[in-house]
Amino acid sequence: MLEHSTRAWGSPSRYIQGRFELNNIREYTEIYGRRVFFLIDVFFFKSLKEKFAAIYAGSDSTILCEQFGGQCTAAEIDRCTEVARAIQPDVVVGIGGGKTMDTAKGVADQFGAATVIVPTTASTDAPAMGLSVIYTEEGEHIGARHYKKNPDLVLLDTEILTKAPIRFFVAGMGDALSTFVECRANRQSSSPNYVNKGYAMTIAGWAVCEACHKTVLQKGVNAKIAAENGLVTKDVEDVIEANTLLSGLGVQNTSCAGSHSIAEGITILPPCAKLLHGEVVAFGVLVQLIVEGAPKAEIDEMYDFFNAVGLPTTFADLGIPEVTDEEIMKVAECSMHSYWDVEPFTVNPQMVFDGIKMADVLGRLKK
Ligand SMILES: [Zn+2]
Repeated sequence: MLEHSTRAWGSPSRYIQGRFELNNIREYTEIYGRRVFFLIDVFFFKSLKEKFAAIYAGSDSTILCEQFGGQCTAAEIDRCTEVARAIQPDVVVGIGGGKTMDTAKGVADQFGAATVIVPTTASTDAPAMGLSVIYTEEGEHIGARHYKKNPDLVLLDTEILTKAPIRFFVAGMGDALSTFVECRANRQSSSPNYVNKGYAMTIAGWAVCEACHKTVLQKGVNAKIAAENGLVTKDVEDVIEANTLLSGLGVQNTSCAGSHSIAEGITILPPCAKLLHGEVVAFGVLVQLIVEGAPKAEIDEMYDFFNAVGLPTTFADLGIPEVTDEEIMKVAECSMHSYWDVEPFTVNPQMVFDGIKMADVLGRLKK
């Protein structure tokens, strides 16, 4: 619990979202400088390198495109920094998934350059954050690197995001739905947010989380149907904003709680480690609500939504139909290392164990 009432807010400097906005990239990078380093996911590298060569042709900008190596390690940040050194970039643009974006943030920090983040899926809240999650070569999570600023610009081209496999979009809704539920726990316990060393949440922080929740629940089902058909409706745009901007602002300004604790704990089971972040977080939302004793109507609403969009509600959905009580207790114990301590009451492993099992029981009943 915080021992002061100082409140604080953190966010990226600019956020721009629209269809075909990547075509305007030159206009955006020119705001920050003329030496531009692009770090691009393997899947998009060839096509975007050609596209940017055409976009910047005849301009006074110098651009350099590099393909991301696949893992956000300290060594990969160093490697990309050495490549970028050739042009001493004013602007570093990271285009791809969370690991590409996080590596680009690390490179930009080395040069004190402006950071432009262009996510290619609407699956996480990572783009807006001023930190990188660092892994080992083997993919083991070893901690976060915090930077003195959030990205200068988060640029979303909704045409690209809608072309990504639908599973990413749905997972993003799972991550987004944890935002308000976790924010509420933090508010009830007066816990610190993730702005610098941690402060009380602002009214803005609370309002963003409420808007995130409402948007996903009201628009998520139709947004998924539209996106599956390659359509960029207003519902799709709204849910993309909720998954990326609202969810990202929410987590930084109001913090995680039980949902993300389950997401981190459950990855000790190998099949769950292969799921998308938002998918395991979604199951964590169900567990958190049950552990908190949330009203039945709220729990029912969440199950109905998950069933409608295809987020996991049972052990079978998570790929662990044969999971044992011993393994569930291990997950519960492991989840205690995360954020359960911000709940407004003391949580112990037995409560979490019961919550996990009950989430599966309800999930099977409601299928
Ligand atoms: Zn998350």
